[in-house]
Amino acid sequence: MTADRPNERPLSPETLAVSHGYDPASARGAAKPPAYFSSTFCYPSAAEAKALHVAFFDGVEAGAAPGYIYARLGHPNLDMVEARLAALDGAEDSACFAAGMASIFTTLMAFLTPGDVILHTRPLYGGTDALIYGELARLGFKAVGITDAVDPAAVAAAADAAMAAGRVGFIWVESPANPTATIADLALISATADRIAASQGSRPLIAVDNTFLGPLVSNPLAHGADLVMTSLTKYAAGHSDLLAGGISGSADLIRRLKAARTLFGTPLDAHSCWLLLRSLETLGLRTERAFANAKAIATYLKAHPKIASVTWLGFLEEGTPARAAFDRQYRGTGSTFVFRIKGDEAAAFRFLDRLKVMRMAVSLGGTETLICHSATTTHYAVPKQRREEVGVNDSTLRISVGIENPADLLADLEQALEAI
Ligand SMILES: *Cc1c(COP(=O)(O)O)cnc(C)c1O
Repeated sequence: MTADRPNERPLSPETLAVSHGYDPASARGAAKPPAYFSSTFCYPSAAEAKALHVAFFDGVEAGAAPGYIYARLGHPNLDMVEARLAALDGAEDSACFAAGMASIFTTLMAFLTPGDVILHTRPLYGGTDALIYGELARLGFKAVGITDAVDPAAVAAAADAAMAAGRVGFIWVESPANPTATIADLALISATADRIAASQGSRPLIAVDNTFLGPLVSNPLAHGADLVMTSLTKYAAGHSDLLAGGISGSADLIRRLKAARTLFGTPLDAHSCWLLLRSLETLGLRTERAFANAKAIATYLKAHPKIASVTWLGFLEEGTPARAAFDRQYRGTGSTFVFRIKGDEAAAFRFLDRLKVMRMAVSLGGTETLICHSATTTHYAVPKQRREEVGVNDSTLRISVGIENPADLLADLEQALEAI
């Protein structure tokens, strides 16, 4: 769309988030995108039906799809949301999926070869951890975790252990990681992929799970990642009312991914795409407010005598490798982090049960503030030792700060902390 580049001046992400990917001329001038609730699409003629199939199965240039066949292969709302996500991620193309996990699973299955080793940062989202160490381990894939992804010696040791175990097919990076907001140094990861390539003869793909900050604050593709993954369920959808996942990268990789998605049956449905398009319009506003609220809450908690520690990114110390990576890679401090109370599981539960404004639930990135006890909820399925090694113990609470009035959130915390 030419309207996206008036006078060739590139538009800012906040502007692209409002309208990119939808052309009113494609839908009788409707100012806002219609939702196309149709599982199948009619062919204008038998010859055009054949042409559509030739184009789909034998390959068409990215963006030149001549029409639609069946919604599992692609549909108009999917094209709109993928165009918008690709623009925000600074990618050639994107693919959207029925959930973040569907995007992770489809990606790993599309690109791994039998016996491959997955080198990954720690901690990992509970679902990713369970997928890699459960279902994928069952299929023979091995995994090696990096204990500290901003420390060159720790990354080198993990890379050596991974290469000793087999061909390294993937480097799966989560940064900032769920739930502790732990950072990986993406330049270090990229240099490690080069070293692995020189040793084994094939370069592992680098995928970065960018869910915690999202495309307006973090663009891993600009720092050496091949693919960026986002659970769009979280900040992008932003209202805790749908599940979605997105992967962005080069046109070649995304074409391969979309072919796998068609067979795995994991594309995002029209209704969720439509809601997501609407949600993306306010991503900038919501992010700004939630980040400001998070700063107020993190600052309050850090000074509270009943709180042992707070992992909010704004507290990364000057002069540390993590702070240096943060400054290079990110433009914001996020609104999801963990804090540890001075107390055990029972004290944590008493505190949680007393909250009145904050809701107790898993998930993050919604307009409402959510809080949960990580060890017994999001990371319940992660074995105790692996959980504690990455800083999730019985005193750990994860908070996703929403867009409410911060005074109400602070007052709620204050009265509930009396229970500890
Ligand atoms: C939620 C989440 C996922 C999984 O996304 P779903 O949409 O729930 O399937 C993956 N990674 C991170 C960091 C998450 O927070």
